[in-house]
Amino acid sequence: MAHSPKITLVPGDITEQHVDAIVNAANSSLLGGGGVDGAIHRRGGPEILAECRALRAGHYGGGLPTGRAVATTAGRLPARWVVHTVGPVWSRDEDRSELLASCYRESLRIAAELGARTVAFPAVSAGVYGWPMEDAARIAVETVRSTQSAVEEVRFVLFDERAYQAFAERVHSS
Ligand code: ADP
Repeated sequence: MAHSPKITLVPGDITEQHVDAIVNAANSSLLGGGGVDGAIHRRGGPEILAECRALRAGHYGGGLPTGRAVATTAGRLPARWVVHTVGPVWSRDEDRSELLASCYRESLRIAAELGARTVAFPAVSAGVYGWPMEDAARIAVETVRSTQSAVEEVRFVLFDERAYQAFAERVHSS
């Protein structure tokens, strides 16, 4: 039955999570990058990149659009799938919040289609893409709370203390 997933917070590295699906803060090329993306491909092995290349050769010739999500194998990671999503680059001049919210909604939709019950997310867009952490946490938590999904648990995996604090404040303040 669809309901809003239970939210849990975990400090640490998303590549170590034993969940059905982990979400990658990818870039639209799907061909790898730094941050979470680099860690996932390094730890997950070449099978993930091979599937990403196949997606680029097929349906996603122009890359994966911002705000969308697509799944691959998780390779050697202790998860079953990686859901790749492309967060918006933060902009001072333009409100791109809806695109960031879409990353969470679309990732949950794809994960639920696969049958995932537990899904781990990083703080999408809050690294190289420059989104201020408090606002990234607000959008992440509000979006998951307002999404009906067959996914039972959303685990936010926060890489540093500042990220953990921002998410904890948001989860516990409302
Ligand atoms: P983006 O390009 O969407 O900003 P990044 O990968 O640069 O994505 O960063 C997103 C967030 O993920 C940042 O808060 C960063 O510190 C964090 N991060 C980096 N590596 C990991 C990891 N292995 N596990 C969880 N979070 C990570």
